[in-house]
Amino acid sequence: MKFKSKLTALCLAIPFALSTKIMAEGKLTVYCSVQNTTCEKIVQTFGKQHNIETKFIRNSTGATLAKLIAEQNNPQADIWYGGTIEHHFQAGDLNLLEKYRSPNQTDIMPQFKSLMDKRGDLTSIVYMLVLGFGINTEKFKTLGIKEYPKCWSDLLDPRLKGYVQMPDPQISGTTYTAIATLIQLWGEEKAFDYLKKVNANVSEYVKSALVTTNLSRGESAVAIGFVHSYATEKEKGAPVESILPCEGDGYSLGGMSIIKNARNLDNAKLFADWALTKEAQELVWRETKVYQIPTNIHAEASPQSVDPKKLNLIDYDFERFGSSEEGKRLTDKWVKEVKLHK
Ligand code: PLP
Repeated sequence: MKFKSKLTALCLAIPFALSTKIMAEGKLTVYCSVQNTTCEKIVQTFGKQHNIETKFIRNSTGATLAKLIAEQNNPQADIWYGGTIEHHFQAGDLNLLEKYRSPNQTDIMPQFKSLMDKRGDLTSIVYMLVLGFGINTEKFKTLGIKEYPKCWSDLLDPRLKGYVQMPDPQISGTTYTAIATLIQLWGEEKAFDYLKKVNANVSEYVKSALVTTNLSRGESAVAIGFVHSYATEKEKGAPVESILPCEGDGYSLGGMSIIKNARNLDNAKLFADWALTKEAQELVWRETKVYQIPTNIHAEASPQSVDPKKLNLIDYDFERFGSSEEGKRLTDKWVKEVKLHK
């Protein structure tokens, strides 16, 4: 090769080598509050597509919020993906989030558009969750109970003593949504009265994933949680059915927020944009068989998902239940008035 052409080749190669090096050095740490299999799949797919070394640390929603609070002077992750949105709003309230409004928020389902207009500077919506019960039909048979519960009040049946489980709201977002739902249905006094009564039937308060496996194994007869988890268990062959309580449908939304002072801010923004796409939202059910409802209007929902059009959704007060003061007050109250009496 002549000197001139060698030089030209070198000139072309240097920027290429530099750019791949820069890309290869890109990193991202995701705090992930969805199922482990989903965390793995989304992180792998995003990392490959964008050539960014992406890792995740999985924890329930309440546990992740506690980590954000503990690490606020030295953040260990860049973005928080998934988990109940009330906790993301609480993190925003505590000044733990970085401002970023992804342009892809415009594809949000119309019923959540005004919420995004108000809160989308700090948090995006990545999916929808519907609250209800899961029941183990075999366990009902062995308990000799013929009729399945239809309403929240049916969980007070004394024959279910020791056979109801729900997650611990100190760790889990699910039970915080349940507490907020009951308050919105009945008012705070009646809701806490109910939680104290149902406590008599609850065997233990554990992590949400364990509540679901315990139901599938027949260790419990009823689990309180987001109903898509029971669809997955049923598909795996467990004798499990979902029930939407008669009093009205409580729900939450999956939140996504960039963490304040994220070290890899540009990559966190890329991830946020990607997670809101049709492709990323469909990946969750197509590849990991988790049937939460996609919230991008262009994303197809799994036939296994609850159809949001058929729901009688409560008018959720995200302002109140997304406030950090209210979140702490209600969780502390639950511990004092319910858990400590177990
Ligand atoms: N996001 C998804 C997709 C879930 O399935 C669940 C629980 O079932 C949650 C969030 C809430 O999880 P946790 O109660 O562990 O915070």
